Amino acid sequence: MTARILDGKAIAATLRARLAAQVATLPFRPGLRVVRVGDDPASGVYVRNKDRAALAAGFSSATIQLPVETTEAELLATIRGLNDDPDVDGILVQLPLPPQIRAAAVLDAVDPAKDVDGFHAINAGRLATGQPGLVPCTPKGVMHLLAETGIALSGARAVVLGRSTIVGRPMAALLLAADATVTIAHSRTRDLAAECRRADVLVAAVGRAELVRADWVAEGAVVIDVGINRTATGGLVGDVAFNEVSARASAITPVPGGVGPMTIACLLENTLQAALARRG
Ligand code: NAD
Repeated sequence: MTARILDGKAIAATLRARLAAQVATLPFRPGLRVVRVGDDPASGVYVRNKDRAALAAGFSSATIQLPVETTEAELLATIRGLNDDPDVDGILVQLPLPPQIRAAAVLDAVDPAKDVDGFHAINAGRLATGQPGLVPCTPKGVMHLLAETGIALSGARAVVLGRSTIVGRPMAALLLAADATVTIAHSRTRDLAAECRRADVLVAAVGRAELVRADWVAEGAVVIDVGINRTATGGLVGDVAFNEVSARASAITPVPGGVGPMTIACLLENTLQAALARRG
């Protein structure tokens, strides 16, 4: 079997266009604010891409850049200001934060109604208990990609590789909410390959270059690769050995150009959702 390649770039562009059309009908511009502390170069690219995508879709967007020596109290005061600002619908605190700042304290200070990353414990709890809320952007993007494949998730065996609060856990919760039979595998899982081979849907979110090989994948499985790993030569590869797995899977996402673009489109989708919920 040769896998259909899921073009995340094109699917994200369609989603962004749909959101832009919806925003154009509103009497206000949904507002996104990204807070960045320090100048970690990798996050700089993400932040610029988020800003550009938001502005292009008709949102108001700005990055609040704070110096690397910012204290936790100063950052919390900035977040309180954004919580209180009626023009701001979505707040995103770019990770990682410098070591003097506790990320958990900061994420929990964001108003859950403006928490477009879906990282606040209230939103994580809502997702875990099947209540509506703001869902983390990357797993939400994966659900959009799975919808494109037409695969019936109800009753399907889904394996999520990785148990982070940003990707793995919310991913598993979303698949469970779609009635899949979900296994979460991680660094302590015995015989990872055997767990993966049982999957109709395999989502890899580990951060290990090309960990998933062809013999880990069932013939005809749908394989979603969340991983972003830099190679020695400066290229990007996923957690899945793309060429060999493509020969077995029925559908697969490339890296780059798969899940990555969906994450930003879903950030806009969350900001619009937050704006509509807040402003009625
Ligand atoms: P993380 O480091 O927080 O979590 C990784 C998880 O993988 C952990 O739960 C760990 O138990 C598991 N793991 C580690 N090594 C393993 C191994 N050898 N075998 C099995 N499991 C193992 O990472 P994260 O934030 O969840 O991100 C995972 C990957 O996804 C990274 O490459 C990251 O860059 C990428 N990512 C991409 C996007 C995107 O938009 N495409 C967004 C977020 C993260």
